[in-house]
Amino acid sequence: SVRVRFAPSPTGFVHIGSLRTALYNYLFAKGKGGKYILRIEDTDRARYVEGAIEGMVESMNWAGVNHDEGFQLENGQLMEEGEFGPYMQSRRLEIYQKHIKQLLHQGDAYPCFCSMERIDRIREEQKARGETPKYDGHCKGLSQEEVNEKIENNEEHVIRLKLPEKEEIVFEDMVRGKMSFHTDDIDDQVLIKSDGFPTYHFAVVVDDYLMGITHIIRGEEWVTSTPKHIHLYKSFGWDVPKYVHLPNILNKDKKKLSKRQGDVAVEDFKKKGYLPEALVNYIALIGWSPEDNQEIFTMEELQEKFDLKRVSKSGGVFDVEKLNWMNNHYIKEADNHRLAKLAIPYLEEAGYLKSGQGEAEIHWVKDLMEVLKEYLDYMAQVPEKAEMFFKEEIEITPEGREILGDDHIEQLLEAFYEKVKMAEVIDEAFGKQVFKDLKKEVGAKGPKLFKPARVAVTGETQGPDLTLVMKVLGREKLLKRIEFVQT
Ligand code: GLU
Repeated sequence: SVRVRFAPSPTGFVHIGSLRTALYNYLFAKGKGGKYILRIEDTDRARYVEGAIEGMVESMNWAGVNHDEGFQLENGQLMEEGEFGPYMQSRRLEIYQKHIKQLLHQGDAYPCFCSMERIDRIREEQKARGETPKYDGHCKGLSQEEVNEKIENNEEHVIRLKLPEKEEIVFEDMVRGKMSFHTDDIDDQVLIKSDGFPTYHFAVVVDDYLMGITHIIRGEEWVTSTPKHIHLYKSFGWDVPKYVHLPNILNKDKKKLSKRQGDVAVEDFKKKGYLPEALVNYIALIGWSPEDNQEIFTMEELQEKFDLKRVSKSGGVFDVEKLNWMNNHYIKEADNHRLAKLAIPYLEEAGYLKSGQGEAEIHWVKDLMEVLKEYLDYMAQVPEKAEMFFKEEIEITPEGREILGDDHIEQLLEAFYEKVKMAEVIDEAFGKQVFKDLKKEVGAKGPKLFKPARVAVTGETQGPDLTLVMKVLGREKLLKRIEFVQT
């Protein structure tokens, strides 16, 4: 049965490209009734960032890309789940030691005692000759006695993969088709570093095998590593898994999307108040397309329809406007209570609400959301879009001024003011009734009635549903505003 994994290194924030890799793994597993695993690749201790694993798990939970095995957060603590653990490479060092011994014994790996200075020097020389830098195999020829002596003398060394010369390594990538590499172009990869830690290349193969991984779905930057990995599988006598390399996510200039062009971290989008289902839906469509033109997908639909065969070979462009359109779609569909909960922190931060006001406030913000949701690309825009509900004085647009110039306006606004003042509550029912009554009393109808009322309430001639706006504003603000335009 299908087993796939997402194997991030805990080096900081979660790039949306990583979210997509995780998502495709997840969707593929779910579609096939398989298992999706989260494994932490933390063998590069220098790049380890405190809290990165917790952040990763949190982001994935938020996005709803839930793994079956790996780490879960329980009260802020990382807890392991699954039968193939440990799921963190730094806890598997003995396993790598055991496996490297096997390779050394078989003669498929060799210790290399070359100093950094020597490696750098030959690299420079190769570059000067226009060659691709590559380890020159200096230590490959050492005799067993020489090796033993150096090891007895505690000479610092790494362990390298012994690649055969003049061989073709071929594999079938499920997205890119047949891929072929020549061993003469590939480095004798370091497998174990001088500190005894494995490199990514060694750990990834050992772990994928021991964890029963059937399909390796990862970013295209790993394509050129794949022949080394395949050679390792073969050296161990293990079955080679299927490979799928995903195209990059590009910016509008068709370059690889990076932090310099704005938000690229899942955390950034979360902070701005994108809904996870919108981000996931949008990300799913960068690099994959369904058979028809469907654009809006629930997670269940994605699980059902996602197909590796329809992943494109070329990079997909990340278009923030399209994402905003999609997020707006999901905001419009979302429950107002949910939106209110999301909106409150932004309103508090803007100083529009005091914190901790509880249920009454939620009711009010729910109505505010009903008014605003149509206009929101993301929730961080709430304070800016809600400004008109908090302002003491409104500005009247030139079109608004023109409307207020009509003869019947004075009488209309006076009657409007009285009715607001006398009302028991300003709710939708009041809103409906007040315009019926004004129509009778003042004799104005249609735009002659609603436009001036809207200008009095908002300063503008167009906008969201007026009865709701009135409800959200409340009596005091309404009275002030009608008074203001009368003078
Ligand atoms: N740890 C690697 C990364 O950070 C995983 C690559 C792979 O999936 O093999 O991307």
